[in-house]
Amino acid sequence: MVPRRATIALDDLSQIPASTLILTVAGDRDSIQVRHWRDWAALRGVRFVDGFAPFFREPADITMRKYFIRGDTHFNAAGTYCTGNGILHDQYGRFHLDPWTDAEWTAFSDNFVRVIMRYWDSKFELTPNQPWYRPSGPQLAAEAAKITCSLSLGLVGTPKQANQRYFIIKPQETSFRSFAAPEQRLGLFTHRDLSLDWKTRQTRVGRVRHSVSFLQNTVLHEFGHTLGLQHVAGAGNSDANYGVTLEQREDLMGLGDHVTVREAQPWRSQLRHHLIPARGNRDDAALRFTARVVAPQLITYWDNDWVPPPAAAPPAAP
Ligand SMILES: [Zn+2]
Repeated sequence: MVPRRATIALDDLSQIPASTLILTVAGDRDSIQVRHWRDWAALRGVRFVDGFAPFFREPADITMRKYFIRGDTHFNAAGTYCTGNGILHDQYGRFHLDPWTDAEWTAFSDNFVRVIMRYWDSKFELTPNQPWYRPSGPQLAAEAAKITCSLSLGLVGTPKQANQRYFIIKPQETSFRSFAAPEQRLGLFTHRDLSLDWKTRQTRVGRVRHSVSFLQNTVLHEFGHTLGLQHVAGAGNSDANYGVTLEQREDLMGLGDHVTVREAQPWRSQLRHHLIPARGNRDDAALRFTARVVAPQLITYWDNDWVPPPAAAPPAAP
């Protein structure tokens, strides 16, 4: 997606009479926002009210207790933003956010790690083309040890400790397009994204086109992006990037739920941190690993236009 600049202050302004300017965005005393809008107001001859000032009159802890809003929806994730009024804006439109109950949030957080781990952990195995591992030191023969591609995942309490930040929203509309922005280490998902969801598309099946329904869990697909994977048929969000053929479309990084060895790439590319070939050592230089999917996989697409193959001609009477 294309990151856009947020227009938080401007959006707040659209709701109030032009003769009064109220600043409600977070910031510091005489912050860039205060200075910008003070100048803006002076230039246009409108009254300026510094909405920050009251927050500095009392000690910080008292201010926090008095003014902190639980469930506040101020955030900006890669240009998709919310200004505290419960309406989310992105490049496709506006979405109305509902608050979470404590029970809902706890259930979602508990399931989040479990769902991702069950799918992505130990999904692949890397098989070497030659012995390479010497568990007992250089004096004994090397073993052709296989590598299991495992995943470790945990939720942390503060953004500072996190490698990735995911915002989870509860939009009333079902058309919000969740996304992960791996280069910014963040993602924006909805409360529905942990469940499987059907998408039906005209799809090439062999030489014909059929209406095929694909089952996908959005969080698992987006977590693939977080791992560094792109769509099955190239980076980008055009329809063709999600695949053209049935084999492509049923891929997790297409519209489906299925992985191939292509999705082992995040683990393969981490090998360089673990295996450091000795300079000029031909054996080391020749070491290659082949990926294999080792977890069982369900076939989760449904071909709506499937017809039984023509019955074989009955054997001719003697
Ligand atoms: Zn995607």
